[in-house]
Amino acid sequence: MSTLELRSVRKSFDQTTVIPGVDLQVDHGEFVVFVGPSGCGKSTLLRLIAGLDAPSGGEILIDGESVIDVGAADRGCAMVFQSYALYPHMTVYANMAFGLENARVPRADIREKVRQAAALLRLDQLLERKPTQLSGGQRQRVAIGRAIVRNPKIFLFDEPLSNLDAELRVSMRAELRDLHQRLRATMIYVTHDQVEAMSMADKIVVLRAGRIEQVGTPQQLYERPCNTFVAGFIGSPR
Ligand code: ADP
Ligand code: MG
Repeated sequence: MSTLELRSVRKSFDQTTVIPGVDLQVDHGEFVVFVGPSGCGKSTLLRLIAGLDAPSGGEILIDGESVIDVGAADRGCAMVFQSYALYPHMTVYANMAFGLENARVPRADIREKVRQAAALLRLDQLLERKPTQLSGGQRQRVAIGRAIVRNPKIFLFDEPLSNLDAELRVSMRAELRDLHQRLRATMIYVTHDQVEAMSMADKIVVLRAGRIEQVGTPQQLYERPCNTFVAGFIGSPR
């Protein structure tokens, strides 16, 4: 059974079809990258998976069960955004604890979960700081920590590194891959950057205008792109 399955998932806004139909299976523990040019529907697709928006048609299954009627809070997906979306007036600890407090998790459990996530992300010494007292990379780690404490079935990353400078972006790629290994979690990572996709993915999903052009490992896409769009986008010598 797949951790995530999309069956003919469609999305239109008013008269405009953004996602004409997507079929996809993601297995437990995979690191899957959705890559495609700006405006191709990557964020829209993530929002549909997360339950932040409803599809116009099709089925979304998590662990084999339809989640079409399940709200975002109960789907077991945690989204990490490019803009961090941290609460500026709250400490790192409070930012990470916030979602759990809302879900009425016991205080001692919250403390333990935040402590574990902070250790994993090297934020242990920064828990009393405010977001403005952190570097860009540290802020992004807090945003990731906020997802980790919820122990989601699926992590959804929407271009989480695009606000960081080039050097930090490269080191954060490795950090995220390392985190994936340690958590053994299912992660879907969205980027418009093919180098990022090729260096991070177990499996790449190439999107164009709301359709999947090709799914494969970085090596498969590089060596056997199915058309000139994929070849051009991935940078294959074809
Ligand atoms: P990406 O993340 O790949 O850059 P998006 O998923 O953000 O692309 O957008 C895909 C297309 O859907 C774009 O043409 C965008 O303008 C459109 N779109 C996204 N959200 C909405 C919305 N809420 N209302 C109308 N159009 C939208
Ligand atoms: Mg986007």
